[in-house]
Amino acid sequence: MEIKFWGTRGSIPAPGAQTLEFGGNTTCVEVVLANGQRVVIDGGTGLRLLGQHLMENHIPCQFHLLLTHGHWDHLLGIPFFEPIYLESTKVIVDGWPPAFQGMTRVFDSHMGDGFFPVAFDHLKADIDYLNTLANGPLDLDGVLIDSIHLNHPQGGLAFRFREGKHTMVFATDNELGAARGRRIPEFVEFVRGCDLLIHDAQYLPEEISERRGWGHSAYDEVVALAQQAEVHNLLFTHHDPGRSDGDVEKIVALSREMMAAHSKLRYIDAAREGACYRLP
Ligand SMILES: [Zn+2]
Ligand SMILES: [Zn+2]
Repeated sequence: MEIKFWGTRGSIPAPGAQTLEFGGNTTCVEVVLANGQRVVIDGGTGLRLLGQHLMENHIPCQFHLLLTHGHWDHLLGIPFFEPIYLESTKVIVDGWPPAFQGMTRVFDSHMGDGFFPVAFDHLKADIDYLNTLANGPLDLDGVLIDSIHLNHPQGGLAFRFREGKHTMVFATDNELGAARGRRIPEFVEFVRGCDLLIHDAQYLPEEISERRGWGHSAYDEVVALAQQAEVHNLLFTHHDPGRSDGDVEKIVALSREMMAAHSKLRYIDAAREGACYRLP
């Protein structure tokens, strides 16, 4: 599978000279499976760029859109995804069930006071809602995708992709050390041995005590999880909007210092907008 980041920022877009390296758009990740199927995770502002890319390259817009949860930074790009106004576009939405409701509410409410002038049911694209992932795995011609509940206010899902021998987990907006909710051993089990873990690392260890309950993790918690679960490669995402490129680079450098010599973990970086990774 090929994984491309169209948005890596958390909470709110953060454009500007300080975020050119890691990007200012909010969460959107494109996964192209070896069988040719396309899966898009989340509809943050990065989705707008993906729409431009698909149209400029005449790539058919037919894909699964997996929503991790319904917070606005993960939905804001949807009204600005140009292919959604074309009849030829087909989107099958799955993921966190309330997020689909959230997606429809981003549009006009029919009461004249919505967040966007166009109503959801006036969109020309064929948009179906498939409520599979919250109840069991989704099988895309042999690629199995399953999910685990996140520790995040109002809930959400992380996704695990298994393609042949390779596994990738995408877990954003997840508080590993939350006082209540899912415990670390359950996350260890879910990510165990995966080739690539992409995980929220919004905070610094020194910030986390002030931000308990906000639904995000500090990078040291994520490195600990990856080492415990024998993950091979780790990418941080959902970068804090206040973090400059230099700040993110510092997080990566400090994380690499935490890598134990005997650990299976051999690569840590922060996800960059526009970067592409391939498994195997
Ligand atoms: Zn978020
Ligand atoms: Zn969130």
